[in-house]
Amino acid sequence: MTERPHILIVGGGYVGLYAAFRLQKKLRGGEATVTVVDPRPTMTYQPFLPEAAAGSIEPRHVVVPLRKVLRGCRVVTGTVTGVDHRRGVATVVPAEGVPTELAYDVLVLAAGSVARTQPVPGLAECAIGFSTVGEAIYLRNQVLSRLDVAASATDPEVRRRALTFVVVGGGYAGVEAFGELEDMARFAMRVYPELAPSDMRWVLVEAAGRIMPEVSPSLAEYTVRRLEKRGMRVLLNTTVTSMVDGHVVLSDGEEFDSDTVVWTAGVRANPLAQASGLPVDPRGRLVASTTLRVPGHEDLWTAGDSAAVPDLSAEGAWCAPSAQHAVRQAKLLADNIIRSLRGREPKPYKHSHAGSVASLGLHKGVAEIYGIRLRGVVAWLMHRAYHVTRVPTLNRKVRVMADWLMAFLLRRDVVSLGQIHDPRRDWAAMVEATGVRPTVPPRVG
Ligand SMILES: Cc1cc2nc3c(=O)[nH]c(=O)nc-3n(C[C@H](O)[C@H](O)[C@H](O)COP(=O)(O)OP(=O)(O)OC[C@H]3O[C@@H](n4cnc5c(N)ncnc54)[C@H](O)[C@@H]3O)c2cc1C
Repeated sequence: MTERPHILIVGGGYVGLYAAFRLQKKLRGGEATVTVVDPRPTMTYQPFLPEAAAGSIEPRHVVVPLRKVLRGCRVVTGTVTGVDHRRGVATVVPAEGVPTELAYDVLVLAAGSVARTQPVPGLAECAIGFSTVGEAIYLRNQVLSRLDVAASATDPEVRRRALTFVVVGGGYAGVEAFGELEDMARFAMRVYPELAPSDMRWVLVEAAGRIMPEVSPSLAEYTVRRLEKRGMRVLLNTTVTSMVDGHVVLSDGEEFDSDTVVWTAGVRANPLAQASGLPVDPRGRLVASTTLRVPGHEDLWTAGDSAAVPDLSAEGAWCAPSAQHAVRQAKLLADNIIRSLRGREPKPYKHSHAGSVASLGLHKGVAEIYGIRLRGVVAWLMHRAYHVTRVPTLNRKVRVMADWLMAFLLRRDVVSLGQIHDPRRDWAAMVEATGVRPTVPPRVG
């Protein structure tokens, strides 16, 4: 190890941001340098994505700028495409330019998870995921723009297709997206005299026999009943077998057309560890000991969705991919790295699952905290209270609360900005229509 060890953190999500933040706070001057590499310049607070999609929170406020928060670290905007841990180098492909090798002494692999997809015809062309702020903004505009399309359509087929919204996957991300987007669309319909909420068709498709494995079966059943009471359909033990050109075919034989299919059918570990020849479990997660160190590799650490961390609170179990674990693991991981730099023994990770909170729209929610089940507005308030205390930085906490206050005072802002997805379209059409062709400027001299 060099005089001043270099700690490289791959991924600036929950684990990466929190670990780097703690390292910059606790490392003594000159003790080590820290670099964080992520293809995005921001960390996304994913539990707020459903509310950002529904317009209750300004999308900019659910992301945290890495450079602003991690002033004591070097931040590189790029993708790590491979790690050679024997040599202590990672290959980084920057946002633009040629790949470079970054040498390190200590590596933290925290590249999170990727969507678990299936070979469903039409999936790549027709569906959209729900894990980034871009996808949340797109979905908000997509749902609102479909109301415009339906209200102006004379063809009943076009109208029905526009008003059919499908979410595939009944984990909390899928259920929250389902509940929040429907709630927003229902509210927006007040200004569409041509449309009634009963014209909308909202379908949640879940392969398992229940939704939200994070909560008890009775609370999951309650959630289904609440959603169905709103006229939404929850199809259990059902899969989507095809969605070519937006024609959705289900495993029970039902078929319909939809312009909007959201894919939230689970996640799997980021393939980087496996591709780099590091020790992974059968699910592709980097194997970790209870101290978050990779066994047999002194200077390799991991946590979060991409890691298989033993769950000491339940025998033989592994920590589930959740923000709750990611944040706590990140802090311990940073402390353990510092302990090991100072020649002390790292400590084991132990955390009992405290529970889950989920929002199903404005004033609607479900929660289970230390075995206590909460429903309706109380659960929804718990959801907001919990997450506003968790979102990183005081700046974001204040902005999110200000968004809620504005929405409370002025009601939700349901304007569609669909044009932002293709801002050059109108410009290009105008240039084409006016017939002005670009000319090559004459050469001087
Ligand atoms: C919509 C939604 C709602 C959720 N709600 C909840 C909730 O209510 N409660 C809860 O506990 N959990 C929730 N989760 C799950 C939670 O967000 C994750 O468990 C948590 O983000 C995991 O943290 P992580 O650091 O492992 O991964 P992430 O936070 O995903 O961070 C991984 C980072 O690695 C970066 N990266 C990926 N590949 C590379 C590469 N090759 N090189 C460099 N960087 C790379 C990514 O850009 C990303 O920034 C939700 C997830 C979603 C999608």
